[in-house]
Amino acid sequence: MTARIIDGRAIAATHRERIAAEVTRMREAGLRPPGLAVVLVGHNPASEVYVRNKRTACAQAGIDSHSYDLPANTPQTDLLALIERLNRDRAIDGILVQLPLPPHIDPATMIEAIDPSKDVDGFHPYNVGRLAVRLPRLRPCTPWGVIQLLRAIDEPFKGRSACVIGASNIVGRPMTLELLLAGATVTVCHRFTRDSAALVREADVVIAAAGKPGLVEGDWIKRGATVIDVGINRLEDGSLIGDVDFEAASERADWITPVPGGVGPMTVAMLLDNTLKARAFGENEPSR
Ligand code: NAD
Repeated sequence: MTARIIDGRAIAATHRERIAAEVTRMREAGLRPPGLAVVLVGHNPASEVYVRNKRTACAQAGIDSHSYDLPANTPQTDLLALIERLNRDRAIDGILVQLPLPPHIDPATMIEAIDPSKDVDGFHPYNVGRLAVRLPRLRPCTPWGVIQLLRAIDEPFKGRSACVIGASNIVGRPMTLELLLAGATVTVCHRFTRDSAALVREADVVIAAAGKPGLVEGDWIKRGATVIDVGINRLEDGSLIGDVDFEAASERADWITPVPGGVGPMTVAMLLDNTLKARAFGENEPSR
């Protein structure tokens, strides 16, 4: 068996076209287009690439992106003051503070300072809590993008077992909540799990998000399973690989995502989607 490829670039393109068409309609109706503030502190090379991609994607969709590139030694109080100013700025619908932040800045404090109705990353405890109680509002982009990929291949979710490898705040945990909401029966593996292989072998849907190259071996994959590889690991030669042994897993899976070209493009598309949603929420916010 050779798995069918889930083409994240193509699926993301359909979302981006839908969003661009919506923004064009807004502009043609004389409405203000959505505005996204992208805040980058310091010079992390991977973050610089991610931020550049997000700004380009905004421009292609007609979303106004506002750049705030701050030096690595920016005091936490200055970043907080910027976030508070952006919270009040009526032209800004979404605020993205690129992680990781330099070590002297506490990411949780910054995330909690963002107005939840402008939290387009979906990391604020308010938005994660809404997802946990089945009232999602702004949803964390990567897990929500994974759900879109699964919907695109008609994953039925209900009655299916899913295994999430990784339990971080930005991927594994909200991914678990999304799969639960969709109706799957979910198992979560993390660094203290004794036998991840045994749990993955039971799963109809495998989501790998540990950031460990090749962690998920081919023979962990149940025949006919769907495999979503969130991992992005840069090798010494500069190439990118995921957490799954792609070649071996493809021999057993029915569907599989490549790295790159799988989940990554969906994360950016869902950021645009959240910015559009935040623009609509803003209409109903008395403070804006
Ligand atoms: P993280 O380091 O914050 O979390 C990793 C998680 O994996 C932790 O919960 C840890 O307990 C678990 N883990 C580590 N080793 C494990 C093991 N041997 N077995 C089982 N679980 C293990 O990382 P993160 O921010 O969640 O990102 C995970 C990966 O996803 C990284 O490669 C990151 O680059 C990638 N990522 C991709 C996208 C995308 O758009 N494709 C977005 C975000 C993150």
